[in-house]
Amino acid sequence: MSKILIENVKIITMEKQDEIISRGYVLIEDSLINLVEEGEYTGEREGLEIIDGKGCVALPGLINCHTHIPMTLLRGYGEGLPLMRWLNEKIWPFEMKLNSEDIYAGALLGMIEMVKSGTTSFVDMYFMEDAIAKACKNANLRGFLGSPMIGDFWKQQIDESIALFGKYKDDELVNVLIAPHSPYTLSMEALKQAGEVARKYNIPIHIHIAETMDEVKIISDKYNTTPAKVCEEAGIFENNRTIAAHCVHFNDEDIDMVSKYDFTAVYNPQSNMKLASGIAPVVKMINKGVNVAIGTDGASSNNNLNLIEEMQTASYLQKLSNNDATALSAYETLKLATVNAAKAVGMEDRLGKIKKGYLADIILIDFGKPHMNPPTDVYSNIVFSAQGGDVRTVIVNGKVVMKDYILLSLDEKEIIERANRVFVDVINR
Ligand SMILES: [Zn+2]
Repeated sequence: MSKILIENVKIITMEKQDEIISRGYVLIEDSLINLVEEGEYTGEREGLEIIDGKGCVALPGLINCHTHIPMTLLRGYGEGLPLMRWLNEKIWPFEMKLNSEDIYAGALLGMIEMVKSGTTSFVDMYFMEDAIAKACKNANLRGFLGSPMIGDFWKQQIDESIALFGKYKDDELVNVLIAPHSPYTLSMEALKQAGEVARKYNIPIHIHIAETMDEVKIISDKYNTTPAKVCEEAGIFENNRTIAAHCVHFNDEDIDMVSKYDFTAVYNPQSNMKLASGIAPVVKMINKGVNVAIGTDGASSNNNLNLIEEMQTASYLQKLSNNDATALSAYETLKLATVNAAKAVGMEDRLGKIKKGYLADIILIDFGKPHMNPPTDVYSNIVFSAQGGDVRTVIVNGKVVMKDYILLSLDEKEIIERANRVFVDVINR
């Protein structure tokens, strides 16, 4: 049995806002948290891997609830175009040429970036998820992976998802989702089938809904209703768990409707700002009881996978758009990336908190930096003052993947060079 002791550390449990252990320890046994206590560890030390958390704050590993991880390869490619032109002229032609080795290289680049900014789990939608699953195993990161169903080949694509589910259904790190791309890129028949398969195998659904006004218009012209209502008509939400990226253009009726289901809206503020898609009605959704999580979207529309930076933007944009400085507080924002995200993937009793019996996905943020002091309000410092690079140590599923800023599971230099070679190679293909 492997045992890790994190000691001398301030602990944010995310159980309650005022539950902060000012100096304590966390004992990890194999993949689980076994003790979370105030004060000094007095038990047996032999065989323990000790992490001194002095000057650090421990919190649950962050969960990026919407990304397309291999799109790190497309970082900065096709800059400055609106969404539809950017997809049609740049992104989709590039992606047509990718093979599974390219995708593996891009996924590893994204995983380094995520670990180094405190993300321990991510919800992904991309082609050839098998290659991304392999990267998750090598990087020791927790992935919720869905191969997209899009356009006319959805039958074949859904079969691939079912096969991938069969392959990884007992895996500790890799979880498979059903990923109908969106109501505007699939037929009603395909959407219905996605809902049915998800119910049959009890797999969550990952989908884009109401990202842009273009999408709202396409759907309105075709069905005379909203993207969310089309999904409801197709039975996507019925007895399913749905993780819906964007939800930018939800109207009040859409919000009331999704609040009745096991539904999570994933807020992607930087991508929505960069592509001028709009501002998701996050405060309104939360007030109506909708679970809201947070994502970066792909690195090509962000342009990074830094969830700490994303949290800052998330809160600022809601404060500004609601004309209310109290909107989406630091603690509420941190919930989007921890407890709410755990609920989104159906693991609220195992993930997103530092609590006995929970999976040991824990990050340590370095409070020794000038911009982190004085530590007057720990939540404010993490959400508004911290940089991604302040994440010092990262543990996923009871394994240390980064210690004192050094990656242990991945060769950073080699992965960066490989990704750069792949980009040039694909462009010239
Ligand atoms: Zn997306």
